[in-house]
Amino acid sequence: MLKELPNGVRRMTKSQCGRISDVRATTVAIPLEAPLRHANGVHPGWFVRTLLEVETDTGIVGLGEVGGGGNSAQQALMGLREVLLGEDPYQLERVRWKCANPVQALYVPLSQIFAAVEFALLDIQGQAVGRPVCDLIGGRLREKVPFAAYLFYRYVGDSGAGGECNAETMVAHARNLISRFGFSTLKLKGGVYPPDHDIEVLAALRHAFPAAKLRLDPNSVWSVEESVRVAKHCEGIGVEYLEDPTWGLAGMARVSRSTWIPTATNTVVTALDHVPAAVNMQAVGVVLVDPHFWGGILGARKLAGVCETFNLGLGMHSGGELGVSLAAMLHFAASVPNLAFAADAHYHHLLGDVIEGHPFQYDAGSIAVPEGPGLGVRLDREKVAEAAERYQRLGAYDYHQDPRRSGWFSVFPGDQERYARPGV
Ligand code: MG
Repeated sequence: MLKELPNGVRRMTKSQCGRISDVRATTVAIPLEAPLRHANGVHPGWFVRTLLEVETDTGIVGLGEVGGGGNSAQQALMGLREVLLGEDPYQLERVRWKCANPVQALYVPLSQIFAAVEFALLDIQGQAVGRPVCDLIGGRLREKVPFAAYLFYRYVGDSGAGGECNAETMVAHARNLISRFGFSTLKLKGGVYPPDHDIEVLAALRHAFPAAKLRLDPNSVWSVEESVRVAKHCEGIGVEYLEDPTWGLAGMARVSRSTWIPTATNTVVTALDHVPAAVNMQAVGVVLVDPHFWGGILGARKLAGVCETFNLGLGMHSGGELGVSLAAMLHFAASVPNLAFAADAHYHHLLGDVIEGHPFQYDAGSIAVPEGPGLGVRLDREKVAEAAERYQRLGAYDYHQDPRRSGWFSVFPGDQERYARPGV
């Protein structure tokens, strides 16, 4: 029921938000244009995500989303059903602490599972008061969020797309993405081939796109010495930041001391108490936040505040989101003042989504923050059913494998044998 206040503002009463009366989780698979290669293995041609629906007894349905499915995400979320039933969607802290014990008992990372719950509860809150989520967490500082073109070496997909593996084909791939989506930042996912191969591709991208911002992320696969050698080349090429060239705070600090290229990370600063150590060691210049890995939008905002305190750069990591998670990330990004770098997203690699209407559209490399109440997206039942059936057919996959490289497994830093041969 909408209550008319004396100043003319209409506000819903608490009873209209209601209490949580049902929880549903559905694992889905959405195809990729082509398989995406990285230092640890390959995304073989589809992403697996689990969609969460939290319904209240007044009929509001809030949406959440988390990576993975089956035995991990879906069961963990459904394991929270009894914990969530009867709860007030406004009581985020109460629900967070109530969720903590059972989730930890399942040995599933609390942050990602709770993030999906938090997205759904914020979605309910926003729908109840008729305001977008960004208005509940500080307001809308920006109407659209800039994204980077996430460039992967790709195997050829079922559609015939992909097959990029060298400088010439990666430049053509980047040119295609820029023409379709208007990106002005290009992020190369390296570490598949030897470091000199990544340097060659990066230099070719610089030559082809003199004004573009470039970044390189080999997923921590190099030694410190190799990282420093690559960083020196990056200085000549002009790179915005070098993301996780090596592993650990100490290693990142040694790299940072040897180059003026900022280092960025989504692996060595993964909890708030890592930040003071990273600052003291001067290990990283840019922290890549992800509401999924930081326990939701409010957890990610805590990190943003701490980064602001230390004047650390803040960017946004992508874990392969569909429309629900992307909406949550857009609302977060809209409200955070110090998000100074174009965000990462795999979204342009997806062939489809599960939300009503068109998938999110890129305009000049940016995506508009949804304007509707809550997260501003709704599930398309037909698309969800089709994607759930696809998951049943394709199943999950191991991120740390590459079925096309028989017997291979990743070893860091390893030797030249760890890399794919250029051209393959
Ligand atoms: Mg990364």
